[in-house]
Amino acid sequence: MGKPSVLLIQPPIHDFALYDLYLKPYGLLKIGNWLERGGWKVDFVNALDYRDVQTTAALGSVKRKSNGTGKFHRTELPFPLKDTGRRRRFARYGILPEVFRRKLQESKPDIILITSGMTYWYRGLIEAVETVQKIHPDIPIAVGGIYATLLPVHCRKSTGADFVVAGDAEPALRRILNEQGLPVPSAGIEGPLLLEDVWHDAGIIRINTGCPYRCDYCASPVICSSFIPGEAERAFSSLQEMHRRAGTVNFAFYDDALLVNKERVFIPFIEKVIQSGLDLNFYLPNAVHLQFLDREVSKLMVRAGFREIRLGFESSSSDFHSRHDDKYSEEDFPAAVRNLKEAGFDSGSITVYILAGLPRQDYREVESSIRYAAEFGVKVSLAEYSPVPGTPLWRESVEISSLPLEEEPLYHNNTFFSMEWDGFTLENLDYLKQLALSFNRKLGEKQQ
Ligand code: SF4
Repeated sequence: MGKPSVLLIQPPIHDFALYDLYLKPYGLLKIGNWLERGGWKVDFVNALDYRDVQTTAALGSVKRKSNGTGKFHRTELPFPLKDTGRRRRFARYGILPEVFRRKLQESKPDIILITSGMTYWYRGLIEAVETVQKIHPDIPIAVGGIYATLLPVHCRKSTGADFVVAGDAEPALRRILNEQGLPVPSAGIEGPLLLEDVWHDAGIIRINTGCPYRCDYCASPVICSSFIPGEAERAFSSLQEMHRRAGTVNFAFYDDALLVNKERVFIPFIEKVIQSGLDLNFYLPNAVHLQFLDREVSKLMVRAGFREIRLGFESSSSDFHSRHDDKYSEEDFPAAVRNLKEAGFDSGSITVYILAGLPRQDYREVESSIRYAAEFGVKVSLAEYSPVPGTPLWRESVEISSLPLEEEPLYHNNTFFSMEWDGFTLENLDYLKQLALSFNRKLGEKQQ
């Protein structure tokens, strides 16, 4: 008997809009590496591959940036729901369906593993499962990832996958492989499979897992119930390996709590990067905890090559924080901005997230937060609330929304503004977006 073989699939995404802000199948490729080290043959089909030659010939090339972000190929789809008032365009992002099918046919797997992302992306996952079921009808399919974790019952019903892996993949996969009479690797899951195609434009690092805070609007504590500090040495070796084998110079952190416990993990890691003399760029698609941005860490981040900082500010209202997150004190924000600027980050490289559209939130609170943050000479970005199943705010969101959030995950997409009420209308939201934009424009003009 030859090697057992697994087919890993990153499905296409169906959404109203999509931008590649370091969107990589990191967890799936960690499983791929685990199986490969355990003696498996591993095939990977990436339906989001923006470099695919046949798709590019048919749809044209997509705009990408040197920092590893950019667009995906896009083909319009019919709007999937009854008219909801606003004109919205729905699309499929990824390689052409016929290219997807051809790539799936090239593999002869013993098991198929498919990842999932946002709950409202589930239609792309259905497409992937249905396509692969036609091509490999007798091969077991397991679906994991965020949607599978947050809505396992919906996932099972909507996709018809044989297995739905909710939460930590390793114990569930060990059980599934055993049940299928397939060999189970003895080692544990570690770093991702090193595929040059995936990692050349940008690598992913995740040092710590989860977050010790419990903000009532956030998915992190639902996806990972406890905070597990990582190891500086291991994270640095993974970075070095990606740099050496795939030529990666851009790295994005997937951590939810990068700076928590920073003396033990992040600072030793960043010191290793500096000592190595490697010329790298670091990005933070997730916000960091502003209360930990002291002078020392801000300076180290500049020296290591951090090109941007995103701060999870959320609101200038103390009432907001006592109700929802209680994660930092009033003086932490001014101190963080001061430390970052003194360390050498310019105004345009610091983005402050402000949460908008929580249940019963008044738009004037968001307006005050935008005005407050903008005074510090930083970019302001509205983070529009998406209701996440399993969070403390989920039940309240379901109760007050006029949209059927429990029946249709597409409505979790913040494009629907599901928490609209008299104190925060769609017009108010448009006004706030314009307000943030005007402050950011002024900031840009000042910098020129
Ligand atoms: S919002 Fe940030 S601090 Fe709060 S739980 Fe999520 S990751 Fe942690």
